[in-house]
Amino acid sequence: MRFSRGRNFMFRVPEGKELLGFINDFAKKNNVIIGAVSAIGSLKNPKIGYFDEDAGEYKVIELTGTYELVSLAGNISVKDGEPFAHIHVALGGSDGSLYGGHLVEGEVFVAEVFIQELLGEPLERKPQENGLTLWDAMEL
Ligand code: ZN
Repeated sequence: MRFSRGRNFMFRVPEGKELLGFINDFAKKNNVIIGAVSAIGSLKNPKIGYFDEDAGEYKVIELTGTYELVSLAGNISVKDGEPFAHIHVALGGSDGSLYGGHLVEGEVFVAEVFIQELLGEPLERKPQENGLTLWDAMEL
């Protein structure tokens, strides 16, 4: 796939908002249908997923307390005709330990988000037999 650069957005999410939902709402409101997402900050009681291949679904890990949002990386593409954010996070605990996974939800204490929109043919997520919804793989 070949994309050209679109708009860049950088903003802080209000305290108390749910981060994944906010990013999805932002993408819908601004009509960002393909893009790259990154962020840093701090999340409360985050829930992260680990995809269990045998079960064909995410095992959800519920963390309690406030965690540094050490790193957030993800993308926006199209699922069911709407912008859809797929986000992974690295979360730091008070002893410096690190947890990581697929972001299921997290209440924002602080979140500084950067979104780079891309322009080109949309990438669409399609349900797979393994339980994931994925883009068609790139054929060289
Ligand atoms: Zn994921």
